[in-house]
Amino acid sequence: MNIDTIITGGTILTMNPAFEVLEEHAILISSGKITDIIPAIQAQNIPADKTIDAKNCLITPGFINTHSHLPMTYLRGLADDLPLQRWLGEYIWPMEAKLANASFVYDASLHGAAEMIRNGITMTNDMYFHSDESAKALSKAGMRALISKLIINPEGETIDEEIRFLEQMRELYDKDGTITWAIAPHAIYTCSDKIFSTCFDYAKESGTILHTHLSETKQEVDDCRKAHGLSPLFYLKKLGFEKAKCIFAHGVWLNEEEIELLSDTPSAVSICTQSNLKLTSGIAPLMTLSQKGANFAFGTDGVASNNDLDILSEASFTSQLHKTINNKPQFMPAKETLARLTIHGAKALGTDEITGSLEIGKRADLLLINHRNLQSANMYDPYSHLIYAIGKEQISHVMVEGRLLMEQGKLSTLDEEAIIDRAEEYKTMILREIRDVNQK
Ligand SMILES: [Zn+2]
Repeated sequence: MNIDTIITGGTILTMNPAFEVLEEHAILISSGKITDIIPAIQAQNIPADKTIDAKNCLITPGFINTHSHLPMTYLRGLADDLPLQRWLGEYIWPMEAKLANASFVYDASLHGAAEMIRNGITMTNDMYFHSDESAKALSKAGMRALISKLIINPEGETIDEEIRFLEQMRELYDKDGTITWAIAPHAIYTCSDKIFSTCFDYAKESGTILHTHLSETKQEVDDCRKAHGLSPLFYLKKLGFEKAKCIFAHGVWLNEEEIELLSDTPSAVSICTQSNLKLTSGIAPLMTLSQKGANFAFGTDGVASNNDLDILSEASFTSQLHKTINNKPQFMPAKETLARLTIHGAKALGTDEITGSLEIGKRADLLLINHRNLQSANMYDPYSHLIYAIGKEQISHVMVEGRLLMEQGKLSTLDEEAIIDRAEEYKTMILREIRDVNQK
């Protein structure tokens, strides 16, 4: 068998079920897959098209972002310091109505993809309008993605048109190894009962994942109780969520009973701490999720609310926040935080058979993170250094399906300078278009 790439040396944090850490080993990669992991000395004479020396590097699975709105990169910084409903209703939705056409979504998605690669994100779960354009951009970037067909339909009865589109996309990307599709009713306050139950039926029949926002604000919970006499997850239970595998973004206001219900299902929560804090939506109940055994992983949410895609610092910050609010420093140790960034994220998105850990037979989605610098010298515990000391700037290589998307800190599939120039060109146009939105 021809070996495409050998990564040799370094410290491999496999994130396999035994959490093995391997020193001085070599990862053999062929046709996008990890074909073997052997002592480096045994790999010395194996011919390969490319050899990467991982000396002074941690090698980890790629980070998985379980909730994003990629094209919002162009809206970053246009509306801040507001609560969610005002931020959405008075600023973001009017701006999107004016701006978010197909070419905007493609260009902004390309920008977001480049930024995600720099942040070590190898897979994202994205939800936005014109999702076919985001898919094109992510495919060009070479990233792995679960892309949602977004549905906003508060009065709706049917979603025939959306399902036709989704079927077309699934067919188009059928042979693509990295782009898969989900169905995404936006939230319980933007889609009718009928739409949600049809989506759950579709997800069950087609085996696609259902992606939605849930229990993001207290107002959403209060409104749901008023309208349906139930908390949001019990309302979705009535509409049939247990038929499907769901990824619920936020889950800030889930109560103990709802978490109990969730933990009996394969569904998971995407935790978006910084977006929730900035919009003062609240803090998700990670301790209860953890105690009840419900799966959760990290998401950045869109950069208009985060305002960056630095999922490593998001994970580190989240773990420290929850240690303090629970008065329990043992909660979310560094190793678990990395598991939430990798294998738990893969489980949440239904890709743990092929990604999320470095194991023979899995796809080669991985990062090299250089620790030869002042802030990470004297590395006693690689998990501790990665979560509490290392910054995203130390990520030197990003690989998806055996293909390098970043090598020695340089993007290989996208032209970073051209992407920045394009963003600057859009700035003038965006400012002109939104003048009347901002004057409100
Ligand atoms: Zn969101």
